[in-house]
Amino acid sequence: MTRIINIVSGKGGVGKTTLTSNLAYALTELGEDVIAIDTNLTTPHLGLHLGIHLAPNTLHDVLRGDTNLSDAIYPHPSGFKILPASMSINDLTGVDIGKLPEITSKLSGTTDYVLMDCAPGLGREAVSSIKAADELILVTSPELPSVADALKTLKIAEKVGKKILGVVVNRVRGKWYELTKWEIEETLNLPVLVEIPEDANVSKSITIKMPLVEYDSFSPAAIEIRRLAHQLTGREFRFEKSKLSILDRFVKWVTE
Ligand code: ADP
Ligand code: MG
Repeated sequence: MTRIINIVSGKGGVGKTTLTSNLAYALTELGEDVIAIDTNLTTPHLGLHLGIHLAPNTLHDVLRGDTNLSDAIYPHPSGFKILPASMSINDLTGVDIGKLPEITSKLSGTTDYVLMDCAPGLGREAVSSIKAADELILVTSPELPSVADALKTLKIAEKVGKKILGVVVNRVRGKWYELTKWEIEETLNLPVLVEIPEDANVSKSITIKMPLVEYDSFSPAAIEIRRLAHQLTGREFRFEKSKLSILDRFVKWVTE
């Protein structure tokens, strides 16, 4: 059975694209078949994060009816697949985002997971993307504006009858002025699945267009994303730092 999971937020810039690309990688590592879709049609970044921003066929072409779905799906070297969106502003014309559920239902049965990188906000783009999924993961930073916007997304998701798996709190720095896990759970009335720490390696991995989990699977944010992949698949997560040999760690330390 295919799980169609949308990574959503109210506020932009909270880490949806980072989570989508890394969760796709982490689930693939666990032996799951994954297709990641960039459903952020106006400001797409998934292709940029994964190095396929110049793809000749995109979700825009598929939605316009100019390209077959299978011709717009590309392999990532690690094994998962990507359906990117177009970076070109010209491609916004004639695109009907309302057709997204047709695409996800076509993918259903062809893979274990469809992960969608949603547009932020509450506009038609985000709402159509939410409607095209079965389950949602709500991403927020530990700040009030982000949690307040998450609450609005949550209300819309409930209205259209989607199952919300829980909240991912990203960029946690453990400062006194941040909202706590407990406060976020109380406000949204949802469980926090993982708290992903602020991690400078996220930015580095984006620059080299490689998922952080691939770049450094023991980086603090990567560990939490791998923990989430284990949770989703019902596996126990055992943190085995020893997998990285002393020599590996020394080489890493010297070369960074
Ligand atoms: P969104 O897709 O929600 O707009 P992104 O995934 O593009 O958000 O992330 C926005 C910015 O935040 C990126 O520049 C990324 O480098 C940074 N970022 C995301 N998660 C983290 C993290 N855990 N630690 C540090 N920086 C992060
Ligand atoms: Mg994004």
